[in-house]
Amino acid sequence: MRILIVEDEYSLADVIATKLKEEKYEVDISTDGEDGLFNALSNIYDLIILDIMLPKKNGLEILNELKENNILAKVIMLTAKAGLDDKLKSFDTGADDYLTKPFHIEELVARVNVQLRKKFKNKIKDIIEYGDLSLNIRTSSLTCINTNESINVPYREFMLLEYFMNNKETIISREQIYDKVWGLDNDFESNNLEAYLSFLRKKIKIIGSKVNIKAVRGLGYRMEI
Ligand code: CA
Repeated sequence: MRILIVEDEYSLADVIATKLKEEKYEVDISTDGEDGLFNALSNIYDLIILDIMLPKKNGLEILNELKENNILAKVIMLTAKAGLDDKLKSFDTGADDYLTKPFHIEELVARVNVQLRKKFKNKIKDIIEYGDLSLNIRTSSLTCINTNESINVPYREFMLLEYFMNNKETIISREQIYDKVWGLDNDFESNNLEAYLSFLRKKIKIIGSKVNIKAVRGLGYRMEI
């Protein structure tokens, strides 16, 4: 699930992003209101963490425009102001939750989890399975059901694996993979994908699974048995 953080205090945004990535969310950051609105309107986010005091456009204005454009992402507002006024305005405009700075990062993560569970009610499962593979999305542990061998999968490989297992036996293009796994993270170099896939194939092999991620010439990749 993809989360957008709109926060001009970069160090705070970075701390939040790091924590959410540990929780297996995909995270993008916007550091001003205009960029935040632009990204939010792309409608690719399940949840938006939105600061109120922002350069160029404030969080309440952004929230207003999101509602006018029928963006269904859950919104958690952040602000330094403890004022009841801002809180009421946020709920009035349609924010789902509100957190006053300073806050504990664990509290924010807990609230994110609550909002996303509400949004996806039964859609969040702890285990994804395909063939003889079983991926635990809480622990990032990949198990081969036949051999009972397990291995831990690091963040990007986990993201790739989750994407493939949710789209098994379907050809996924390189572009789709970049969008889903790397998002707006532009440090990405295109030849890295092959490297990540080869790490992943090795892990799948080490635990004795028969599942493979095959390159389909000119089209992309497909997970198959
Ligand atoms: Ca701010």
